[in-house]
Amino acid sequence: MRILVVEDEPTLRAQLAQAIAAAGHTVDQASDGQEGHYLGDVEGYDAVVLDLGLPVLDGLSVLRRWRAAGRKMPVLILTARASWQEKVAGIDAGADDYLAKPFHMEELLARLRALLRRQSEHASAEWQCGAIRLDTRAARVLVDGQPLTLTSHEFKLLALLMQRKGEVLSRTELSEHLYPQDSDRDSNTIEVFVGRLRKKLPEGSIETVRGLGYRLIDSGAGA
Ligand code: CA
Repeated sequence: MRILVVEDEPTLRAQLAQAIAAAGHTVDQASDGQEGHYLGDVEGYDAVVLDLGLPVLDGLSVLRRWRAAGRKMPVLILTARASWQEKVAGIDAGADDYLAKPFHMEELLARLRALLRRQSEHASAEWQCGAIRLDTRAARVLVDGQPLTLTSHEFKLLALLMQRKGEVLSRTELSEHLYPQDSDRDSNTIEVFVGRLRKKLPEGSIETVRGLGYRLIDSGAGA
C-alpha cells in the first residue's frame, strides 16, 4: 500500500515513515501543508497520516481541500493532546480517524491497518468494467447508472467475468462456477446464458475467444 505522511516535526516524521515502511508499505513524506496537499491531490494514496499543526497550510485546510475536490482516501489525523475541539473539527473536515500526540507507534499502525482494511473491503465490494458496475454486497448491477435486471444465473456469470475481467474463462470453468458441485453440468447451456447476458450489456462487452471461452472487456460504451 502507498501511504503519505504529512508532519512538520522532522524526528516524528522520520519515525512515522520508518515504522510504516517497516510494516510493508511505500511511504511518501511531506513537511508542510502545501506540499502535503499537492501530493495528496496528484498522487493516489491508500491512506494518509496528517498532522493538523503544519506550516504554510494547516492540516484542517489540507483535508477540507482534498474532500472538496473529491479525494476520498482514508485520512488519519494527528491532533494535539487534549484538544477535543481539534478532533471534532478534524472529523467534520472529513478525517476517518484521529490520534492524539504523543501516541505509541503500535497504536498508529493498528489504526492504519484498520483504515486500510475498511478501504479494501469497500473497494472490493464494487467492481467496474467500462459502463458496467456491479455491487457485490447488494447483488446489483448498473449500466451507465441504470439498474439492470438479471436472473440469478446471469448475475453469477457476470460477477465471475467481472471479478476476472480481461481473462479468458472457459465454458467448463463458467459452468463449474454456476452449478453446484454434484449437479448435472452442461457446458452447452453456458452458451445460452452468455447469449442472454450479452444482449443486456453494452455491445462488445463479452468477447468470444474461439475455442477457449469468453472474456469481459471494457467495450468503451457509455460514460
Ligand atoms: Ca506539527
